[in-house]
Amino acid sequence: MALRTDTLDLSRLRLSSGQGKRLDLAVHVEPFAFGGQTYQVRPDLVDVRIDVSRTTANGYALRLRGTAELDGPCARCLEPARPGFGVDAIEVHQPGGEDEELVSPYVDGEEELDVEAWTRDALALALPASIVCRPECAGLCAECGANLNEEPGHAHEREPDQRWAKLSEIRFE
Ligand SMILES: [Zn+2]
Ligand SMILES: [Zn+2]
Repeated sequence: MALRTDTLDLSRLRLSSGQGKRLDLAVHVEPFAFGGQTYQVRPDLVDVRIDVSRTTANGYALRLRGTAELDGPCARCLEPARPGFGVDAIEVHQPGGEDEELVSPYVDGEEELDVEAWTRDALALALPASIVCRPECAGLCAECGANLNEEPGHAHEREPDQRWAKLSEIRFE
């Protein structure tokens, strides 16, 4: 297993134009907050693969890949959930060029790549609007709170509400 890395000094790779290097690193990622809940990123050290290509004398093309899990309550059924997410991100760092947008926010003036910040942002982009234990999670019964995953076909027998009976007579064109 790779040692924990928060930053990567690109200049120390001593790549010349056209050269590339692949590095397998382990990075700690701070937890995410969703709907008032905290989701820890697992494992504690996420394995990431970084491909560094030296494009020009002072330019880099960078690719980050990895997978991580989020550990916290399912937004629908509230049971512990740990869904996994894949990350595949590209950064181009080309300072001093015509186009200022080619300066990566993750590479500083000393050619130090902030692996931790990049991994966290890339993971954030891969996350859905809410964390669920599985896409088909049935959630909780709105009436009694029963976990519908554990009780398929769960239903409440009751008298039909007259107000609803009235509503059902309305025809929507
Ligand atoms: Zn669930
Ligand atoms: Zn119920």
